[in-house]
Amino acid sequence: MSMIGFIGLGNMGGPMAQNLIKAGHMLKVFDLVPSAIAVLVKDGAQQAASAEQAVAGVDVVISMLPASQHVESLYLGEAGLLKHIPPNALIIDCSTIAASASRKVAQAAESIGLHMIDAPVSGGTGGAIAGTLTFIVGGQAQALERARPYLEKMGKNIFHAGDAGAGQVAKIANNMLLGITMAGTAEALALGVANGLDPSVLSDIISRSSGRNWVTELYNPWPGVMDNVPAAKGYAGGFGVDLMLKDLGLAAEAAMRSHSVIALGELARNMYALHSTQGNGKLDFSSIVNMIKPADK
Ligand code: NAD
Repeated sequence: MSMIGFIGLGNMGGPMAQNLIKAGHMLKVFDLVPSAIAVLVKDGAQQAASAEQAVAGVDVVISMLPASQHVESLYLGEAGLLKHIPPNALIIDCSTIAASASRKVAQAAESIGLHMIDAPVSGGTGGAIAGTLTFIVGGQAQALERARPYLEKMGKNIFHAGDAGAGQVAKIANNMLLGITMAGTAEALALGVANGLDPSVLSDIISRSSGRNWVTELYNPWPGVMDNVPAAKGYAGGFGVDLMLKDLGLAAEAAMRSHSVIALGELARNMYALHSTQGNGKLDFSSIVNMIKPADK
């Protein structure tokens, strides 16, 4: 079994690391938050006092950090981690970050002979716990094949999107569509309810008609329509408004670089930004329905 250095043990990284331990791997773990390390140590991981210690002598390095600046500052620079990673180790960054940041770190790694893939995930915290995440990988095919046995312990679907950074591009394209679909579905339901329809009946109709989508089938934003979704729990848990806003910002950044038209993506980004500034940043992104529906419905 391999020795893995795992950095970033938050909502996603914590359960992903647990699944690797369950599969029999030895883990050295590090996070800036000591309590996050303690949970993993209870499960059998070795505690590292720093990121450098976490990667010493390992076969694989996995990182799961919030945003581009965290990944760049961890790996690059004078004190950058790349210099401390063993020559034959593989780096798997699962964070959702800008494709440009991913490419920059991957190029720096390649320049000193290290192989790195970007492997952002889809599937949320439920998927991280259940080990059913989808990995969307950018990087060399050979590096993906080396990573596959580890990714298979944390997820069910693995896609090779292309070269370095391609995983990030595919991930943000998907999440931009999700943000738009959620806001659009909320709008359609609010329109129906304001005109006398029952939101459950309308959701059923849409789910079996041409407007059907992942939101109406599995993640309905209207309270009372579905059990076991954030809308049934006051929008607690799930995928936060601020994380959706981050991904829509990454889509906007990529669109500017490529001169792409993302009219609906930009509109959605502005809607989630307004929703966030009104104190809803930590709520699940399906709470966008509250910005759209009448307060008394
Ligand atoms: P999180 O904030 O819960 O966890 C991030 C962890 O990284 C924190 O524990 C933080 O202390 C740690 N960290 C930050 N900088 C560090 C450093 N330099 N060294 C060590 N640890 C450091 O975030 P999360 O929800 O686990 O999300 C992680 C990534 O996964 C994000 O890029 C997010 O967009 C993506 N993602 C999240 C979800 C979700 O549903 N939460 C779904 C898909 C993808």
